[in-house]
Amino acid sequence: MALNVIIVSSEMVPFAKTGGLADVSGELPLALKKLGMNVTLFMPLYREVIAKGFKVDPTGVEVSVPLGKRTVTAQVWKGSREGIPVYFLKRDEYFDRTYLYTTPEGDYFDNLERFIFFSRGVVEAITALGLKPDIVHCNDWQTGLIPAYLKTVYNPALPSTASLFTIHNIAYQGLFPAELFDLTGLPADIYNPEGLEYWGQLNLLKSGIIFSDIVTTVSEGYSREVQTPEYGCGLEGILQKRSRDLFGVLNGVDYSVWNPETDKLIAANYSRSDLKGKAACKKDVLKEYSLKLKPGAPLIGIISRLADQKGFDILVDAMEELMGMDLGMVVLGTGEKKYHELFEELSGRYTGKLGVKITFDNSLAHKIEAGCDMFLMPSRYEPCGLNQIYSLRYGTIPVVRATGGLDDTIDDYGGGEGNGFKFRDYSAAALAEKVGTAVAVYRDKKAWQELQKKAMQCDFSWDRSARRYMELYNRALTKLRGEDI
Ligand code: ADP
Repeated sequence: MALNVIIVSSEMVPFAKTGGLADVSGELPLALKKLGMNVTLFMPLYREVIAKGFKVDPTGVEVSVPLGKRTVTAQVWKGSREGIPVYFLKRDEYFDRTYLYTTPEGDYFDNLERFIFFSRGVVEAITALGLKPDIVHCNDWQTGLIPAYLKTVYNPALPSTASLFTIHNIAYQGLFPAELFDLTGLPADIYNPEGLEYWGQLNLLKSGIIFSDIVTTVSEGYSREVQTPEYGCGLEGILQKRSRDLFGVLNGVDYSVWNPETDKLIAANYSRSDLKGKAACKKDVLKEYSLKLKPGAPLIGIISRLADQKGFDILVDAMEELMGMDLGMVVLGTGEKKYHELFEELSGRYTGKLGVKITFDNSLAHKIEAGCDMFLMPSRYEPCGLNQIYSLRYGTIPVVRATGGLDDTIDDYGGGEGNGFKFRDYSAAALAEKVGTAVAVYRDKKAWQELQKKAMQCDFSWDRSARRYMELYNRALTKLRGEDI
């Protein structure tokens, strides 16, 4: 019988997005549906969803969500994503805001309340709508309480529903003051170091890890890394304890969206067998950023959340050396204010060679993927990383640090092998040296074109990942039923 799967996420393309989580939550369902599963989606009704003009309507269903001593109402609205039902929880007090979680000044003060409301409201809505999920697939800290609700308060209502919890980034744990635990309405005896407590604080990601039947991370490399002190951000111990139920599933890519042959957002289309259009795309990006490069100089792209994780400290330290090379660089990103200021300052210092745009702009992201020669991701850690995978398809050769999903997807170029350039040491010197190698290979037009063709051939489509999730959903159900695996 077809599995009934509910995917719950705090962001989802095309409705609302801050990063890769939205790509995964919006694209995986399409691949699961193709495999014959019945998929239903849940997310908050943000201002952004309405502002973008998506068709969403009230279902007439309202649920009461207890929040400590208060009870608040959630309206259930409905839209659709390529034939898949999408339920939105509406409460303007929480979600009719400019940002999803964080303003440039910092996190919203009531994020705990907002996401308890969302998590508990989703479980209430599942029962109110009479949905009978085999699996609830939760993502990141914003939904980390759902597995706990399913194993405790809502177990009588949904005894045969298993949960799978995906960690997209372990550094974001949803940590809140202990005295707010009562807002969750969960049994007091799960607030201890074996449960939701983390060094005197409430930890929502930990809740997802402990109470779900299966835990996944978004690459195999990252599933190993998070079990170590260097990458586990303090949760390595409980992940080691759950290692039998912990799996890595690499994110896929939607090639109907990220494909230079069909992309309508780029200046000219091109393909593996005819790369000519790429030159027009490069010209377009250079114009967009008002850069002038010497003929034959490569253009390096960066599209990123501006956060510590992404390796900007070593990039900044390497900048002088990089800007001394014959190349140009374009940056597109938003995030922490200190990086906004830093990049603005750098673009002033290297006018004509370094272009910076501090904004979130999907069309420009496509143009950069198409118009650059190389794509740089010097991440300190990277759970999966999507841009390097998009870059491969656009023949824009990734230069990455060997960590997590970057390490899993990119093989270092050498002797005709490889699909990109990869350095291991987290240092400005290693970064600059690898860019130098890439620039040297770039000068050999024939070798570069061969490398581009090889990169463009790499296939990370969702089908393979969706099949793996299907296996793991079945494993979660087997486990819930207490059967042998
Ligand atoms: P993360 O999830 O850590 O932000 P990923 O590489 O997994 O990193 O995914 C980032 C996604 O967000 C990609 O689809 C990328 O194109 C997009 N993105 C990030 N910053 C911007 C931006 N400033 N403008 C447009 N798209 C962006």
